[in-house]
Amino acid sequence: MKRASQLTFNPSAPVLVTELPGPKAQAWVARDRQRLSPSYTRDYPLVAASGSGCTIEDVDGNRFLDFTAGIAVTSTGHCHPEVVGAIAQQAERLIHMSGTDFYYAPEIELAERLAGLAPAGCEWRVFFTNSGAETNEAALKLARWHTGRQRIIAFNGAFHGRTCGALSISGSKAVHSRGFGPLLAGVHRLPFDCTRAELNQLLATSAPAEEVAAIFVEPMQGEGGYRPASPEFLPMLREVCDQHGIMLVVDEVQSGMGRTGRWFAFQHWNIVPDMISSAKGIASGLPLGALIAKAEIMDWPPGAHASTFGGNPVSCAASLKTIELIEHEFLTAAAVRGAQLRAALEGLAAEFSCIVRPRGLGLMQAVDVVGPQGDDRVRRDAIIQATFRRGLLMLGCGSVGLRFCPALCVTAEQINTAMQILREAIREVL
Ligand code: PLP
Repeated sequence: MKRASQLTFNPSAPVLVTELPGPKAQAWVARDRQRLSPSYTRDYPLVAASGSGCTIEDVDGNRFLDFTAGIAVTSTGHCHPEVVGAIAQQAERLIHMSGTDFYYAPEIELAERLAGLAPAGCEWRVFFTNSGAETNEAALKLARWHTGRQRIIAFNGAFHGRTCGALSISGSKAVHSRGFGPLLAGVHRLPFDCTRAELNQLLATSAPAEEVAAIFVEPMQGEGGYRPASPEFLPMLREVCDQHGIMLVVDEVQSGMGRTGRWFAFQHWNIVPDMISSAKGIASGLPLGALIAKAEIMDWPPGAHASTFGGNPVSCAASLKTIELIEHEFLTAAAVRGAQLRAALEGLAAEFSCIVRPRGLGLMQAVDVVGPQGDDRVRRDAIIQATFRRGLLMLGCGSVGLRFCPALCVTAEQINTAMQILREAIREVL
C-alpha cells in the first residue's frame, strides 16, 4: 500500500490508507499505555510522524488535516521551512548557555522584538520561560513582588496552567485541581464577564482592594470554551485596576501571537495591560514562554526569579523567525481566514439545530453542541471521533465546545474541506 506522501499531494484533503488506528499506531499506543503518565488526555489514537503546514502524517502513512495546530501552538504551520532553517542554523552555533547567567544575542533580540509588539507609549521588559504555566507563575510572583500585596482575583472558567500557582487561579475543570490542594491562599474568583458592581462588591467585602496584587484574565477564555469577553469587561477591569493600583495581567498564552488577527487579543478591546503572558504559538512549536511587563513593574532584583532553559537560543531563533512570518503574512491571513471560518460556522449553525453559539476572533473559533436536553457533551465527543475517522483532527473546549484553532497558514480550501468533513460527521452523529 502506498503511503499518503507517495500519493498526489493535495494539501487540503486527508488521505487515509489504513483503518484508524492503523497497525503501527496501535502498537505505539499500546507501548505508550505501559509507560506514559495516565494523566494525559488523548481523545483519539493519532500517532503523529511528520507534519507540514496544516497536515499531519501518522506512522501508518495516513494524512490528516490538522485543525488543532498541536493545541494552538504551531502558529506558522508544522515545520515551516524557514522556521526549520532558523532552528538548524542556531543549533549549529549554540544550543544552550542559560540566559539567566550569561548573555546571548537571540534572547536579547527577541526581548526587543516582543517589547516592540506590546502597546506603544510605555517601555516593556521581558522574562523568558518554557511554557504558559511558567509564564503565569512569573506573573504571579512579579505582581506580588511589585505591589507587596498577596491577593489575586481570577475568573470562573479560566485556565492558566497546571503548576500549583497557575492552577490556583484556574477554574475551568475540577479534574485539574481535584486532589492537589491546598493551593495558593488569597485567590478570589468571580464570574467571567462580571459587572463592575460584582467586582466592587468583592473588593468591599472579602478582598480588600489595597491587598489585591493582580487580576488575571484571558481576553478570550481558551480551555474554558473559547469565550470572548464582552466589549465592556476588559476596559472596566482596567479602570478598577487603575483606581486601586492593582496589576492587570492578560493571559495571551492561547490567544496571542497573531491568532485572533491582532498580535494580542486584548488589542480588540483597546486596553493596555500591565503584563502580557505569552507562550504556545510564540515559537511555532519550540518550548518558549514570555512574560512581557511594563518596565517600571518588572523591578525585581537579580536572583529573584530565573529559569535554566527559559529563553534558550534555539527557541528564541524559532520565535524571531515566527514573528517575522506572522508580521509579513499570517497576521492578515488570520483575520481573513478567521472571517471565512466564522462565516462557515454560522452556516453550519443555520443548517444543524445541534450546532449553536458560533463565536470567536480570527482563527480562534468555536461552536457548541446541543441535543434535545440542551448542552450535549456525548454528541460533541462523538463528532470529534467522527471527524477523526474521516481524517480531520479537532479538539473540544469548555464542556460542549468544538474548537477550531488551525495554524495561521490554513488555506481557504483547507477550511472548505474541514467544513465538509465536519458536516458529514455531524450527519453521522445526529
Ligand atoms: N494559559 C492559557 C490561556 C492556556 O490556554 C494554557 C494552555 O492551554 C496555559 C495557560 C498553560 O500553558 P502550558 O500548557 O504551556 O503550561
